[in-house]
Amino acid sequence: MYTLRSRSIPLNTDYDVIVVGGGPSGCTAAAAAARTGAKTLLLEATGSLGGMGTSGLVPAWCPFSDKERIIYRGLAETVFERSKALSPHVAPTDVDWVPIDPEGLKRIYDDLMQEYGVTVLFNTFLCDVDAENGEVHAIVTANKAGFTAYSAKTYIDCTGDGDLAVWAGARYEFEEDGEPMPSTLCFILSNVDLYAYLYHPKYGHRNGGIHPNNKKSFTHLLPNDDRFPEILDTHLCNNIIGPNTVGFNAGHLFGLDSTDPKSVSEVMMRGRRIAKQYRDALATYFPEAFGNAYLVATAPVMGVRESRRIAGDYKLTVEDYVTKADFPDEICRNSYYLDVHYTLEEAKLAAVGKIDGEKRDARYGPGESHGIPYRALLPQGVKNVIVSGRSISCDKRIQGSVRVMPVCLTMGEAAGVTAAFAANANGDVHAVDTDKLRETLRENGAYFH
Ligand SMILES: Cc1cc2nc3c(=O)[nH]c(=O)nc-3n(C[C@H](O)[C@H](O)[C@H](O)COP(=O)(O)OP(=O)(O)OC[C@H]3O[C@@H](n4cnc5c(N)ncnc54)[C@H](O)[C@@H]3O)c2cc1C
Repeated sequence: MYTLRSRSIPLNTDYDVIVVGGGPSGCTAAAAAARTGAKTLLLEATGSLGGMGTSGLVPAWCPFSDKERIIYRGLAETVFERSKALSPHVAPTDVDWVPIDPEGLKRIYDDLMQEYGVTVLFNTFLCDVDAENGEVHAIVTANKAGFTAYSAKTYIDCTGDGDLAVWAGARYEFEEDGEPMPSTLCFILSNVDLYAYLYHPKYGHRNGGIHPNNKKSFTHLLPNDDRFPEILDTHLCNNIIGPNTVGFNAGHLFGLDSTDPKSVSEVMMRGRRIAKQYRDALATYFPEAFGNAYLVATAPVMGVRESRRIAGDYKLTVEDYVTKADFPDEICRNSYYLDVHYTLEEAKLAAVGKIDGEKRDARYGPGESHGIPYRALLPQGVKNVIVSGRSISCDKRIQGSVRVMPVCLTMGEAAGVTAAFAANANGDVHAVDTDKLRETLRENGAYFH
C-alpha cells in the first residue's frame, strides 16, 4: 500500500445529479435528469458519447420494434430517428437492425446534451467512491486537472461494469458459470466494392451474404483455416455504415475481465490482430467485394457484452422473459431475443460442426415483450445510486437480451427522471413514487403496459 502525503483534493458541489458513463444509457439518463429540472453532470472516460455504439464501433441498432410497432420510445426513439436520418441508404420506415454511422451518432448525443443543458466532462474517469452505510457522499474523478471530488444528491451508474455502485458497496454477480460472454473488438473496412457486397452471386448480401446465418458463407470455414489462427468461430455481423464502408462486429475474444485493466489491454491487442486477420480473410474468400478493402479503424474501446450484474431490489430472470412478465413498477418493455454468445468450449465444438454455428436462444413472436421493473435498477442497500444499462440486476440469460442499446436507452431515461425526483427529496432512490415516475415517462412518450 502507498499512502498519499497530500490527501485534500478539490470538491465540487454544483450538481444535483451525476451520471457516470456516457453510453446509450448514460446519455438518456443525463438528458432526462436535466429535463426533469436537475442540474446534471455527465462524466465520460473517453472523448465522445455513445459508448459501444460510437467508441465501440458496434455497427447496427438491435431491433426497435416488437415486430408490430416501435416499443423503445421517448428519448430512445428520438436518438434512433436522428441516427437513421444520417444514412441515406436507410429507409425512414426501417426499424430493425438499422446501421449506425458512428461519427454522426457522436454528434447526435452531443446535441442532445446541449439541448437539455447537461454539463459533460470527457476524458474523465470515475476512480473512487466515498460511501458510508450505503450512502454515497462523494465520488472521485481523475482527468487532466488531477483528482476532483464531486458531491451530488443522487448518482446514476452507467459505466456498464457497475463501477460506482460496487465501489459504494453494492453486491453483484459476475461469471456465475465461470466465463462471461466473449467480447468483440469491432472494426471498419473502407474501399469495399458495395456492388459485389450486395449482389455478387456467391456471397452477395442479397444472396445470403457473409453472415453465418447463410450456411454457405465462408465464415464457416474460417475457424479451421490455419492462415487465420486468431479466428476461432463463425461470428461475422456486418452492415453498410457509409459510402463503400462496412462496419464489422466479428470474432470473439474469450477470457476478458473488463474490470481488470491488464486483461483489457491484452485482449485489445488480440482484437486488433483478429481485425487484421478478418480483413485478410475477407479479401481472400470474397475478393470481388473486399479485395481492396482497407482496415480504417478498430474500436478504441473494447466491446464488452457482460461483466458485473448488480444485486438489485428485484432480479430480472429468464422466467420473466418466458412468462412475458408485467410489473407494477415497469419502466419499459423489451422484446429482443436471449442473445447469449458462446463460451470458448462451445465455440470449439461449433467450429468442428458438433453444435450449430450460431447460438440462438428464445425469441418472441410479433407483439410479444416483457416488462423491466424499476427495482431492477436499484442496488440493494445503496440509498442514492441507480444503475442503468448492461449491468442492471438480472440473471445471465436475460442479460443477453436487456443489454442491447434500444433497451439501455429506454431504461436510462427512467433512471434520469427518478434521479431528479430523488434529488428533490432526500436522495433515496428506493423511495421514489413509481406511479409518478411512470406517469412522467408516459407524458414523454414511453411505452409500457
Ligand atoms: C461487440 C458488441 C456488439 C454488440 N452489438 C449490438 C448491436 O448490434 N446492437 C445493439 O443495439 N447492441 C449491441 N450490443 C450491446 C450494446 O452495445 C451495449 O450492451 C450497450 O451499449 C450498453 O450500454 P451502456 O450504456 O450500459 O454501456 P456502454 O455502451 O458500454 O457505455 C458505457 C460508457 O461508460 C464509460 N465508462 C465506463 N467506466 C467508466 C468510468 N469508470 N468512468 C467514466 N466513464 C466510464 C465508457 O467509456 C462508455 O462510454 C453489442 C455489444 C457488444 C459489446
